[in-house]
Amino acid sequence: MRFNLEHVGGLETMTSLHQSEHLATGLLTGIPEEAGRFASDVIAPLAKVGDTVGSIHNADGTVTSPPGYKEACRQFVDAGWPASGFPEEIGGGGLPWVIGSAVQEMMITADMAFSLRTMLTGGTVDMIHQFGSEEQKATYLDRLVTSEWSGTMVLTEPHAGSDVGALTSKAASADDGTYRVQGTKLFIPWGEHDLSDNIVHVVLARTADAPPGTKGISCFIVPKYLVEADGSLGERNDITCVSIEHKIGIHSSPTCVLSFGENGDGAVGYLIGEENQGMRYMFTMMNAARLGVGFEGLALSERSYQQAALYAKERLQGRTVGGPPGETAPIIKHPDVRRMLMMMRANIEAMRGVLTKTALALDEARYHPDEAVRHEADNLASILTPISKAWASDLGVELTSIGIQIHGGAGYIEETGAAQWWRDSRIAPIYEGTNGIQAQDLAMRRIPLDGGDAIRKLLESVGKDAGALAGDLRPIGDRLLAAAEAGGEGTMTFGAWLMGGEYNDVLAGATPYLKMMGDTLGGWMLAIGAAAAAAGPEGYSEEFLADRIATASFYAEHILSTVPALKASATAGSAGLYEIDEASFA
Ligand SMILES: Cc1cc2nc3c(=O)[nH]c(=O)nc-3n(C[C@H](O)[C@H](O)[C@H](O)COP(=O)(O)OP(=O)(O)OC[C@H]3O[C@@H](n4cnc5c(N)ncnc54)[C@H](O)[C@@H]3O)c2cc1C
Repeated sequence: MRFNLEHVGGLETMTSLHQSEHLATGLLTGIPEEAGRFASDVIAPLAKVGDTVGSIHNADGTVTSPPGYKEACRQFVDAGWPASGFPEEIGGGGLPWVIGSAVQEMMITADMAFSLRTMLTGGTVDMIHQFGSEEQKATYLDRLVTSEWSGTMVLTEPHAGSDVGALTSKAASADDGTYRVQGTKLFIPWGEHDLSDNIVHVVLARTADAPPGTKGISCFIVPKYLVEADGSLGERNDITCVSIEHKIGIHSSPTCVLSFGENGDGAVGYLIGEENQGMRYMFTMMNAARLGVGFEGLALSERSYQQAALYAKERLQGRTVGGPPGETAPIIKHPDVRRMLMMMRANIEAMRGVLTKTALALDEARYHPDEAVRHEADNLASILTPISKAWASDLGVELTSIGIQIHGGAGYIEETGAAQWWRDSRIAPIYEGTNGIQAQDLAMRRIPLDGGDAIRKLLESVGKDAGALAGDLRPIGDRLLAAAEAGGEGTMTFGAWLMGGEYNDVLAGATPYLKMMGDTLGGWMLAIGAAAAAAGPEGYSEEFLADRIATASFYAEHILSTVPALKASATAGSAGLYEIDEASFA
């Protein structure tokens, strides 16, 4: 992680953006080390009990978290980790996104379900910070920033999932400037629990006479307990946790069905910003949440990889080619097991590079003093965000599945613990906008940015870095160049379809297109790392640097080599998808 920050992720750019003294490089890399200790010692032991015991919904509507969660949560808040990534002006630690995301990765690796509460609280903080009134900021922010209170993002309804615009929850204006919110929401993680005194829900609903679809959605703060003028907790709001879902994974995160206002004329809600602007507000903060979900894919792959690598060294099975009769070799010696481990390792390093690059773009878009640089960074972040979310979360499922495969039958048995990372990872391609929706977003809205210039510039940068690789790194450069060229050709086809109104063709190819782009950008990050390693920077062993280069070579041979073939699928068009009559399915 340190090498990624220092030589791939652009730590230098970051420190030049953040002038404050406590963000000097030495301290910046020290923070992730400290976070790593906390994550290993305090959070990681929760994952197993969280998975096996889970959160429990009681008859009175309360939810009890698994044993140990309350104590760990208290330590987490007291140590200041949840606050570390928020801006200093609202009581946060002011860590740049790049470092904050390294901390986030480790907390998710330790226990994804535990970390989800903090991630959603982060969304609530961003929303109130950016769009809330001064009074709302004064009432809620300080205790949300520390995670002393937790937050949720409440969009989904039974008939309104991907199509958020179909939601029907209502918000009626009351005489005193507040609103009364009524409706049933589902799939709300940590929507009810016993880890904090208050839960601040950010709820999407429609006011009277709101236009249909996404244009008529407003955003409300609906707290579990109303907050008095002196900051103390007042009356219980009319919010009922009807049930919690039985899920494949993240068992300690209670996924709640919440009923707002079922006992009277509605739960008390406070409008954020203006009526009918809710979707606009949501969109501006989705980048952080989507990147966070990409980190879930990475973090669980890392956890799975660490466990699989240990197992592969311990498990004795079979002879090596040319080995002595009766030999029982550790399975790590077999080529196919090596291939699986390399697949995990190379993709993990690639993901970490791309996600860090996205975090850096988000930081630059926010903090860079030069308006033109901010604009370019904003474009880059817009392109990288759906890729980071979908490519990394799909890889999370694929790599954690390989982690099980390395364990053989033992991987399919729950006691081994290998399956949990795969089960936990499975939600990431679904929530925060399914990966299909991310791919559409990339193809339909991000390719046209600045008339196509933004994505062209990105691919040109990849090509330029690929062309600069020399000597032993040349084969990596060749594979990367071929991938970037295939990406460029695919993008041209999509551009032409978009101009010609051939939207079904774009939508049909969007998912393989996103995969092409993700794999190419992953290869780019590994190539940058390989070039840095070849220069022999101080602070790293020769063996470590050689391993970086070997990993980049593996990625080039086994993953970049497949990108041109993906172009065929991405640009095949939609006609073939509709040849079989709908009635013939199943
Ligand atoms: C554990 C968990 C946590 C969650 N957390 C939250 C949360 O914090 N807040 C919240 O509000 N919601 C949350 N959700 C809900 C989640 O965001 C939705 O499940 C998700 O957006 C998909 O909606 P859906 O389930 O209705 O699926 P659908 O929208 O019915 O989608 C089904 C399939 O159809 C595809 N599809 C749908 N529409 C289109 C289209 N136009 N074009 C192409 N393909 C399409 C989808 O990609 C998907 O493959 C959570 C869900 C779960 C299970």
